[in-house]
Amino acid sequence: MRPDTPAEHIAEAERLIRTANRYPEDQEPLLLQAAAHLELADVRERASALYDQLLSAAPVNTHLIKALQAANLWEYGHEAEARALISGIRAAAPDDPAPWEVIAETLEAHDELDASHECFTQAAQLLITDEEPLTTSTTALLTGRHRVRRLLGLAHDDWDMVADTRHTGPIPLDELHDPKRIWALGSDDPAELRAEIARLRAELGDRRAALSRPFPVALLHWPLQELAELLASYPTLASEYPSHAAHLTDIETSLRALAASGTTNLGIVTASVPSFEAFAASEKTSPASPSLLAEYATTLAARGKATPWPPSPTTPCWCASTKPYATCHGGPLL
Ligand SMILES: [Zn+2]
Ligand SMILES: [Zn+2]
Repeated sequence: MRPDTPAEHIAEAERLIRTANRYPEDQEPLLLQAAAHLELADVRERASALYDQLLSAAPVNTHLIKALQAANLWEYGHEAEARALISGIRAAAPDDPAPWEVIAETLEAHDELDASHECFTQAAQLLITDEEPLTTSTTALLTGRHRVRRLLGLAHDDWDMVADTRHTGPIPLDELHDPKRIWALGSDDPAELRAEIARLRAELGDRRAALSRPFPVALLHWPLQELAELLASYPTLASEYPSHAAHLTDIETSLRALAASGTTNLGIVTASVPSFEAFAASEKTSPASPSLLAEYATTLAARGKATPWPPSPTTPCWCASTKPYATCHGGPLL
C-alpha cells in the first residue's frame, strides 16, 4: 500500500500535486509531501522545482522548506546554492528546531563535521533553555549533536549527558554513535561496518521522513451519523464496517498495533459522506469501492486534516464521546 519503488513514489507525488491543485488552501503540506516522494524516487530536479514553487507562495514553514531544498540541491551537485541557503537559515536563526536539524544533518552527510557541530550547537543554544522542557524535536537536536561530537572524538559535555539520558532505543546512544565502529573503514569486517552505517542511516532517515511527512499514517474515522448514511448509500462497504462500535474499536486497536511496531506520527482523520463522494469523483471512480477508503484517508492526512494520536489521557476521546481518552478508547479494549 505504501509507495516503495521509484515509479510508485512518482505516482504518489503526482496524485498529491493534483490534490494540491484542487485544494489550494492545503497546498503547503501536500506539495511538501509530494517533494519528499520525488526525493525518494531520486528525481531531484522535480523536487527542487516544487520547493521553489512553495517558497514563491509565502509558505508557513519557510525555513524548513529552504532547509529541505538545500539538502536536496546538495544531493545532486548544487553545493554552492545549498551552502548559500544554509548560511541564510543560520543568519535568520529560526525558532523552529526542524530546519536546524535538516541543515546540520546535510552538513554531516557531506562530511562537514565541524560546521555540522556548530549548527547543532547554535540551535541548542537558541532553543533549549532552563524554562522550556525538552520536546521530541529539541531532543533530536541533542541526539544529532551527540552523534557528530562522537564522530569528532570530543568528550561528553552536559548536553551529551542529556542526550544519553533521553535516548529510549534498545541500543545505548554511545554504542550507536561509537566512532570506532564508524571509522572502521577498510577494517577486517566490512559487513559489520555496513550494518553500522545502515543503522545510523535508518536513525537519520526516520527523523527526516517525519519532518517532511507530519502524518504519514492516518486512519479514517466515520462519525455515527456519517457511517449510517455511507452504508445506506453504498451497501458494499458494509463488509468493512460491521457496526459503528466495532469501527471505533478497530481504529484504536490498529493504531496501537502500529505504534507497537514502531510507527511514529500516527493520526486520525474524520470522514464525511459528501467529502468522500467528492474524492471518488475526483479519482474518477465509484464511492462503493472499498479500496478507495485508504486513499481517501491518506489524502485527508496529506491535506493536514489529521488529528495526532494518541490524545493525552485527560483530553476528550477522539471518538467524540466527550469522555476523557483514558476512560474511553484509551482504556483497556474489550
Ligand atoms: Zn553519550
Ligand atoms: Zn472514545
